[in-house]
Amino acid sequence: DALQRLADDTSDGATADGHPVQLLANIGTAEDAERLTDAAVEGVGLFRTEVLFLGRTTAPTREEQADTYERALRALGGRKVVVRTLDAGADKPLAFVTRSDEENPALGVRGYRLVRTAPELMADQLHALAEASRRTGVEPWVMAPMIADVDEATEFARLAREAGLAKVGVMIEVPAAALRARDVFSAVDFVSLGTNDLAQYTMAADRLLGGLVDLLDPWQPAVLELVAAVSWAGGEAEKPAGVCGESASDPLMALVLTGLGITSLSMSPAAVPGVRFALSKHTREQCEAIAGAARGGRTAAASRAAALELCDPEV
Ligand code: PEP
Ligand code: MG
Repeated sequence: DALQRLADDTSDGATADGHPVQLLANIGTAEDAERLTDAAVEGVGLFRTEVLFLGRTTAPTREEQADTYERALRALGGRKVVVRTLDAGADKPLAFVTRSDEENPALGVRGYRLVRTAPELMADQLHALAEASRRTGVEPWVMAPMIADVDEATEFARLAREAGLAKVGVMIEVPAAALRARDVFSAVDFVSLGTNDLAQYTMAADRLLGGLVDLLDPWQPAVLELVAAVSWAGGEAEKPAGVCGESASDPLMALVLTGLGITSLSMSPAAVPGVRFALSKHTREQCEAIAGAARGGRTAAASRAAALELCDPEV
């Protein structure tokens, strides 16, 4: 039946008229990567490496990290793998690096900012990844979380390239980086939008507070506007701009993102068939119309309703 056909479709992500949109998986462990060996995904768009650091009193060694990254790269057999450097702090506390004296951890020394207080963590991780690359002959993509400005992007790119990594990018999840996406693109090879944190910081609403879900909605026009600006800057720079936040797993939002020019969507593997199907039902031009309608909304609900109205009823 229809559900089975959905599950059996292993084609690459594309609109009805063949415009490609990479469908990638979000993972947290090498085991997750191994479960993808036969899965119909084009790769991994977000490897949340902090899972490897959780529940420990010290950081894993270079050797241990290299083994894990090697397993993940091998499991994907040459497909794209985007490894995110440690994103500790705030909603992802880590005993041995997260400071307990910060009043606002979400605004504190977290994500890429840890390079200020614990530069050896970044060095170990980048060298471990480069070692995994040498062992496998696979070139991983590497990106840093919570980049705020072009100086941070430039410094991260320098560190990663010095370690021997060739495909270097950053996450855009801080509004300042989104507003200055053109500058950020000039320093890196690709960007990936983290819409979970982008919504949190744009709306000044703690992502851990269930009572604020209406503000954290990725359909909020202000969030859509920032995504559109980043996507546009990516087009200008002719560099990939992906999305790896939860919003990529919503088939209707996936059409909007495609219409805005986003080049890859990374999500939990279970969400991929639904997004693949939605894309296959719409041309690129239809996606652009859906994105335009969504951007015309004055509220999150209106943006979503406007997109829904233009979308194929089967989606
Ligand atoms: C995000 O912020 O959207 C994201 C993908 O990263 P995380 O949820 O791990 O912060
Ligand atoms: Mg994030």
